[in-house]
Amino acid sequence: MSRARLKTLGLDLPLLPTSTVGSFPKPDYLMEARAKVARHAVTPAELDGLERRATEFWIRAQEELGLDVLVDGEQYRGDMVAYFAEKMGGFARGGLVRSYGTRYYHKPVIVGEVRWPGPITVDWWRWTQSLTAKPVKGMLTGPYTLMDWSFDDHYPNRKAACLALAREVRKELAALLEAGAKVVQIDEPALSVRPEELPFAVEAMNLVVDGLPAYYIVHACFGAFETIYPGLLDLPVDNLDLAISHSALDLLAMFEKNPFTKDLSLGVLDVHHHGVEPPAEVKARIMRGATVLPAERIWVDPDCGLKTRTVDEARGKLAAMMTAVREVRATLR
Ligand SMILES: [Zn+2]
Repeated sequence: MSRARLKTLGLDLPLLPTSTVGSFPKPDYLMEARAKVARHAVTPAELDGLERRATEFWIRAQEELGLDVLVDGEQYRGDMVAYFAEKMGGFARGGLVRSYGTRYYHKPVIVGEVRWPGPITVDWWRWTQSLTAKPVKGMLTGPYTLMDWSFDDHYPNRKAACLALAREVRKELAALLEAGAKVVQIDEPALSVRPEELPFAVEAMNLVVDGLPAYYIVHACFGAFETIYPGLLDLPVDNLDLAISHSALDLLAMFEKNPFTKDLSLGVLDVHHHGVEPPAEVKARIMRGATVLPAERIWVDPDCGLKTRTVDEARGKLAAMMTAVREVRATLR
């Protein structure tokens, strides 16, 4: 069981461990600096200093809120696929495409053999972990999503590109574990885009994690899970983080037919909504989740990254989540 895996890794987490999905809003000074770098009005060194200041701000905020497993907040990242593609060999920068709302990113193009360039996220992870005694998650974008959100001018088909990416992502993962990461989240928001490709997405995930000891969480969002469930359970990971908080009842029906065999990160906050949820509402969502699975197997988090919210909204929502979790813990104790 995954609880045992956490113990083996030396992690003693409370009932209903709390975490976040990865990204936090960037403070105004950082948004302004990122815009200025393109015009050479801010140097890369100055930007790095501001990214560290914002990262430290979010670490302190998470500690004050009482979260159990922290994230670095991705203050130094733009798009989650472009961030890796721009650092890896074999990619070129493509044209601007819209990701959602008014956000645009350069869709990467695979133009040659993809290649891990050496550690990408490890220095950030190591530095962030040095700021806190709480465990900090390693955060990677998974091979299926890297493939799906890129154009491919090199590999014969989507599967070949996905598996090649998996072999390179594995190297980054190994470097993260070498640095000391124990909990690693692999983001695969594209997972439910083409259900017929799930078998090779699973094969790719095996290539990434096989034989590398850590507690693995896969985050998937934007999804129609009924199309990839129960096949999703074949992913060789401990915890599935699914943006499903609003459909816990459908979930119950799905789980009754095919029992959920992993830990579940229950997304209890609507990250696309400005308003802060009343703690009672969040509590009800957690309690619903606890009717679907034993509480020992549930983690609690927002349903996706919080980067589209303001700093205050993100903090307010997380405070509501923590209040709710504390109340549920007290009930279940
Ligand atoms: Zn997400």
